[in-house]
Amino acid sequence: MVKAVVGANWGDEGKGKITDMLAKEADIIVRFQGGANAGHTIVNDYGKFALHTLPSGCFYGHTTSIIGNGVALNIPILFNEIKSIVERGVPQPKILVSDRAQMVMPYHILFDQYEEERLGGRSFGSTKSGIAPFYSDKYAKIGFQVSELFDEELLQEKVVRICETKNVLLEHLYHKPLLDPQELLETLHQYREMVEPYVCDVSSYLWNAIKEGKEILLEGQLGTLKDPDHGIYPMVTSSSTLAAYGAIGAGIPPYEIQKVIVVCKAYSSAVGAGAFVSEIFGDEADELRKRGGDGGEYGATTGRPRRMGWFDCVASKYGCRLQGATDVAFTVLDVLGYLDEIPVCVGYEIDGEVTTDFHVTSKLEKAKPVLKYLPGWKTDIRGIKKYEDLPENCRNYVEFVEEQIGFPITMVSNGPGRNDIIYR
Ligand code: GDP
Repeated sequence: MVKAVVGANWGDEGKGKITDMLAKEADIIVRFQGGANAGHTIVNDYGKFALHTLPSGCFYGHTTSIIGNGVALNIPILFNEIKSIVERGVPQPKILVSDRAQMVMPYHILFDQYEEERLGGRSFGSTKSGIAPFYSDKYAKIGFQVSELFDEELLQEKVVRICETKNVLLEHLYHKPLLDPQELLETLHQYREMVEPYVCDVSSYLWNAIKEGKEILLEGQLGTLKDPDHGIYPMVTSSSTLAAYGAIGAGIPPYEIQKVIVVCKAYSSAVGAGAFVSEIFGDEADELRKRGGDGGEYGATTGRPRRMGWFDCVASKYGCRLQGATDVAFTVLDVLGYLDEIPVCVGYEIDGEVTTDFHVTSKLEKAKPVLKYLPGWKTDIRGIKKYEDLPENCRNYVEFVEEQIGFPITMVSNGPGRNDIIYR
């Protein structure tokens, strides 16, 4: 069976933890989109890790970790990540890289930086990992596919062609040093050497695995609201964050994705700019940020403090719908145990009217949150294993959210560890 683990909101919902947990029963974990721009934090028997490129299931000896064709593959980052986990005692993970994946090149990272610099105050708050320039090039058909590393003649011709176009911008728009085709070719040769042992026809591998009845997890990065089509455009990422894209970014038939586990955090957080209706500020936000996640809500890649807010039923209902949730994993509930009462955003007021629909960006910019206050439970719920053992107000919170979003919460996460999970 193929299951997708994806985010309902702005990302950082705890997909890494849920993937790591589900990977125990899985054979294969596939990253199908995004790049090293967002991190997944995982706490397990080997320690605490922030992964950027490797699938979160790579800690088990029995799993195969796959970088699908939809990923923005940064080869040096992938290899440093493998090295860093092995150095900390994790068994050498079994890795396969799609021959159709494309590579983030050093100039993508530079262009990302230069463009943010150029935009100044109007910047996107990019993590400057080269993701937008990478996907732009992929769709402009001037990207480098892993398979092309093994065609020397093509590479030699292509580096010249790429440098010609890139250098026009570097010279006239950004006023920065130019690219050298020979240097670029050498970089590509290094990448070839690094990636060669892992290159695989992934769609064919997965087709066979599906036929053999293997358990496959598709691991999404970020969440619905960062999807370029269905999110808060233009403050979105550059690849689709939806489970549906899992079929494309891994190369499997869409009907094989039978379970879509949408991860929703018990409050909201976001990195980068863009509409965030239930956002809170000041001391209220600082307190939640400090207590949030596992050791505070700070970006796993950038260390930036995340923007904080209350649980947003409007955004989460929409987020789950677009993902096609069969299951909702409701995470980080333990963090809310300090509050006397818990505000929840149950509607958006736009131009004097209240809606529970998630609208396009121009309308969201005008939206004000409609809050409802639920009683808190004022205890530490970590360690609880059975749903019935949760305090009544805590169960009421879960059930209220479930009713508002309209999708079944089948898992409640009450701590960062693999075993901190309550099945309903
Ligand atoms: P991802 O990008 O969706 O994988 O999310 P992140 O890893 O950025 O953020 C989730 C953070 O919350 C990490 O620090 C996790 O260790 C932590 N976390 C996940 N689930 C829980 C939970 O149920 N309770 C607590 N306290 N922390 C959790």
